[in-house]
Parts: sequence; structure tokens; C-alpha cells
Amino acid sequence: MTTVFIISAPSGSGKSTLVHRLLKTVPNLAFSISYTTRPPRPTETNGADYIFITRKDFEDRVARGEFLEYAEVFGNYYGTNRETFELATHQGKDLVLDIDVQGARQLKVAIPQAISIFVLPPSKDVLEQRLRSRSQDSEEVIQRRLQGAAEEVQNYTQYDFVLINRDIEEASARLANIVEAERLRKVRMEEEVRPILDSFTDPEEPEEEE
Ligand code: 5GP
Repeated sequence: MTTVFIISAPSGSGKSTLVHRLLKTVPNLAFSISYTTRPPRPTETNGADYIFITRKDFEDRVARGEFLEYAEVFGNYYGTNRETFELATHQGKDLVLDIDVQGARQLKVAIPQAISIFVLPPSKDVLEQRLRSRSQDSEEVIQRRLQGAAEEVQNYTQYDFVLINRDIEEASARLANIVEAERLRKVRMEEEVRPILDSFTDPEEPEEEE
């Protein structure tokens, strides 16, 4: 049974770093590579960070019902392909999605058992510093992202977990703990528990007659 972990955060809150570290440290996780119409940043690779496509291509895929969820964020489309979930299930992996609050809402409807985590920066000032220091976006984009963040942070109440990213080491450890604790839930342990319980049943013992 694939567990879906949704991670949302205002951009610049360190979410990408947290997700990269999570995938490195916790085994058996697959990352959902989204489709987007946003142009790639210099550091990004097509097929690894995102699958970069045109607006027309995206709209055709929407019409064909290819997306499990999709949303328009800061003027660009982003979407999760249905096959991503099917592939993770086939591989027996849990799936990590880095998606916005609109997408998270749609995904919770499609997959109600999905676990959602909201990452918060320690403050607006820290968020602004981080957005500027990565200097990948224009001033206009930074301003738009800051305004977006002010609205976005209000949505944390819709999530199962909240992670404040004060320190990357601490936040990474906490994120790994969330994933590992979720995996230990009784419903997800049944397959492992069954043979243990079976080992307690003595095959020699005759069944009681009614
Ligand atoms: P960025 O352009 O900074 O990579 O991402 C902008 C926003 O789009 C982030 O909040 C990110 O989580 C979100 N996003 C990335 N992929 C998807 C997706 O497939 N669906 C949705 N709904 N949002 C996404």
C-alpha cells in the first residue's frame, strides 16, 4: 500500500532542500516529478526536477484527464500525472509530492489517506532573505512570491503536520520522523504483523470442535 506524503510550503521556505534530504535519508520513497509550464531555472534539469512542457501541451493533457491534480501557481500550470502514483504503487514505494495548497486540497479528495505536511519559514523576513539569496528570480517574481506567501501560510490549518524550518538539520530530522512514524501505523503494518501472529499459532494444536 503506497502512502502519499504531500509537502507544501511558500516558495523559499527550504522545502526543496528538505525533500531532497528526505529522499536521501529515508529508503523506499519515490518523488513525484510534476509537469509544469514554468521555464526551467538554470540549476534545474528536465525530467529530474520537473517535466517542462508548453501551455498547449499542458492543456491537452488536462483535457485527456491525465492529471491527478493540477493548479495554476504564479501564472504557470503545475500538475501531477496519474501514472506517477500507479508507478509508485507498482514499485512498492511511498510517494512524496511537492505541491501547492490548491493541489493538496484536490489530492486529499482523490486520496483521502494522503498525509499532508506544511512547511513554515520562521518569519516573513527570513523568507524574504532566502528568496533573495537564491537570486534565481527577478524582483517582480520575488515580490509576487512574498505576497503569495502571506496568503499561503494561512492554509497551514488544512494540513496534518506543521514543520517550522528554523534549522535545516532539525527540520530534516523531523520530516524523516513524520514519514517513519506514519509507516508504523497499525493499518500499514498488517502485512508484517500477520506472519508474526501466525508464528504464535501452534499448527499441531487440533482445532476446537464446536
Ligand atoms: P516553483 O516554481 O517554485 O518550483 O513552484 C511553485 C509552486 O508550485 C510550489 O508551491 C510547488 O509546491 C508547486 N508545485 C510544484 N509542482 C506542483 C504540482 O504538480 N501541482 C501543484 N498543484 N503544485 C505544484
